[in-house]
Amino acid sequence: MMSEAVIHLEQLGKRYGDTVAVDELSFSVDRGMIFGFLGANGAGKTTTIRMLSGLVRPSRGRATISGFDVWSQRSRVREKFGYVAQRFSLYRDLTVEENLRFFGGASRVPRNELPRRIDMLLSLTDLEDKRHATAGSLSGGMRQLLALGCALVHDPPVLFLDEPTSGLDPVHRQQMWNLLYDLSHRGITIFVTTHYMDEAERCTDVGFIERGRLLAKASPRALKESFGAKLLEIDVEPLMEGFARLREQPEILGVSLRSGSLRLYTAEAEKLVAQWRQQWPFPELQWRGCRWVEPDMEDVFTAYSQGYKAVLKQT
Ligand code: ATP
Repeated sequence: MMSEAVIHLEQLGKRYGDTVAVDELSFSVDRGMIFGFLGANGAGKTTTIRMLSGLVRPSRGRATISGFDVWSQRSRVREKFGYVAQRFSLYRDLTVEENLRFFGGASRVPRNELPRRIDMLLSLTDLEDKRHATAGSLSGGMRQLLALGCALVHDPPVLFLDEPTSGLDPVHRQQMWNLLYDLSHRGITIFVTTHYMDEAERCTDVGFIERGRLLAKASPRALKESFGAKLLEIDVEPLMEGFARLREQPEILGVSLRSGSLRLYTAEAEKLVAQWRQQWPFPELQWRGCRWVEPDMEDVFTAYSQGYKAVLKQT
C-alpha cells in the first residue's frame, strides 16, 4: 500500500513577540500512523497542535490536513479532526450522554445518526454504565475517556491528543493506549503529544521536539538504532559519588542513573573499560561490575536533546 500523508507541515512556525514557540517544522504523518510528539514542557507541542487545528494562526510556513490548509481553510479542516485538549474540556454538570450529544450537535452530526454514534462511543470507551452520571463526578481516567469519545463523535479521520494520559493511573493509561491502537487499526491518524518515554515507545513514529525544532523523526526502532555508540552501564559504590565523578571526565558526555547503575554516554566506552581494567583511577569509588546494554528511548532522547553528536550516527 502506498503511504499517504494526511498531515503535512512545511516550515510551520509561531512567534509570540520575541518568543519562538515553534521554529520551523517540516514533516508528514501518514494515514493510520500513531505519531508521538515528544518534548519537554515548553518545547512547542501544544502550539503545534493549536496551529494544526486552526486555533492559532501560524506566523510562518503552512500545514495541511487531508490537503486542506489548516488556517485559510480552517472551517473545512474542522470536520477532519477531533481534539482532546490538555485541559478539561467537558461540561461538568452535564451527564456523559449529554456531553456526547452536545459535542455531536456542535460538530453537526446528523440528528438521526447521533443516538447510534453515542451508543457506539459509550461502548468503545467502556462508559455505558456511566451514561447518566455527570462528567464532574467521573474519575480522572473516565473523564479522559469521555473527552476522547467527544472528540470522536463526528467520526474524524485525524485525532489530536495533547498529553492524554498525564495524571492517569497505569490501568487507565493502558486502556487509553489500547483504544488508540483500535482507532489506528481503523485507519484513523493519531497525533499525540507526550513527555513519557514509555509512551513514545508505543507509537509507530516519534518526533523529538525541542525549543520549537524537530531534532529527529523516525520509528522508535530506527531512533534507537541511530544511537551509534556502545552503551556501557557500570556499578560503583557509593553510587551518587560515582555519578558526580564520572560526569567530570572529559571523554564522557553525560551520565544517567538507571535502576541503581550508571549509564555512560561516550564514544570511547570500549577504550575506557580497557583502561579501567588495567587501572581503576578513582580510589574513592569501588568498582562492582559493568555490562553493555541496548539504548532505550530515554537514552536516545537525551543524546538528541543534549546534542551528544559523538554517540549518534549521522543521519
Ligand atoms: P507543555 O508540555 O508545557 O504543554 P509545550 O511543548 O506544549 O509545553 P507550548 O505550550 O507550545 O509548549 O509553548 C511553547 C513556548 O511558547 C513556551 O515558551 C510558551 O511559554 C510560549 N507560548 C505558548 N503560548 C503562548 C502565548 N499565547 N503567548 C505567549 N507565549 C506563548
